[in-house]
Amino acid sequence: MLLHIALVSTTPEVKLARLAPVSAAIQKQVMRDFGPLWNIQATIDAFDTLADVPVGYWHVLLQDELPSGAAGLHKRDDNKQPFALVALTNNWTVFMSHEVLEMLVDPQGTLTRAGNSLKRGQGRVEYLLEVCDPCQASKFAYTVNSVMVSDFYTPQYFDPVKSGAVRYSFTGKIGGPREVLDGGYLSWFDPETKHLFQLQVDGKKKTIVDRGEVPFAVESLRAFSDSVSTSRRDAVIHGGSRSGIMLNACTDFRSTPCVEHPQPTAVDDSQLAGARNLGAQLERIRVRKEE
Ligand SMILES: [Zn+2]
Repeated sequence: MLLHIALVSTTPEVKLARLAPVSAAIQKQVMRDFGPLWNIQATIDAFDTLADVPVGYWHVLLQDELPSGAAGLHKRDDNKQPFALVALTNNWTVFMSHEVLEMLVDPQGTLTRAGNSLKRGQGRVEYLLEVCDPCQASKFAYTVNSVMVSDFYTPQYFDPVKSGAVRYSFTGKIGGPREVLDGGYLSWFDPETKHLFQLQVDGKKKTIVDRGEVPFAVESLRAFSDSVSTSRRDAVIHGGSRSGIMLNACTDFRSTPCVEHPQPTAVDDSQLAGARNLGAQLERIRVRKEE
């Protein structure tokens, strides 16, 4: 089945011209890296305004600032379809990719995988299918077309045993089932207490947090998990990427903390050179025609 996602920026800081290359990068990530592993096909396109989005698309919206707990998955009031909100931060492209990938695997935010609990004393629990949370920190992101995108786990992440030859996340940074990387987290529902639990990892420190009973009126398990994970998100959202990776000026938050007036990088120079070369050829074609 082919799914359709629309990216729209509602902040004047990011115009369509800046959003389109990010959309192209996430589309390439989905087709090349993510789709074959999760058996999902989708189109990812950028649109100028909400009014330009065709009927039947799911929205991922970039906004200036979000009220606490509003980032992540929501359901529309009218047609009950999913949409996601992303805040404009220095590494917003990583979180845009994060929300797109999680929406494609579990649009309703309700899918779980059974497994033995990471909390001692708990039995079998239901892990939420949130493919980017354990590896959400920007230092684990990788680049597509020099745009930073999120690492994600593979379907083998919930395998009962670890195997040496298995890929647990796309970049290979996750080394075993239900492993959580620095700055990441993993959420599960405990059927016995009806509480949502999360394992949070900060460096070598691992903390298991009881988020309480899942409220009856909540939109979905994942919407609840997203809303109580604000501190997690904030802890990594301003984090830097590892040095040595090449980025577009428009997405390189190391050299251009503010998205305005980005300074061209080596990547942009290559891109400009390619455009110049094609421009010159088009000119030669035009001159030859006139001769
Ligand atoms: Zn997530």
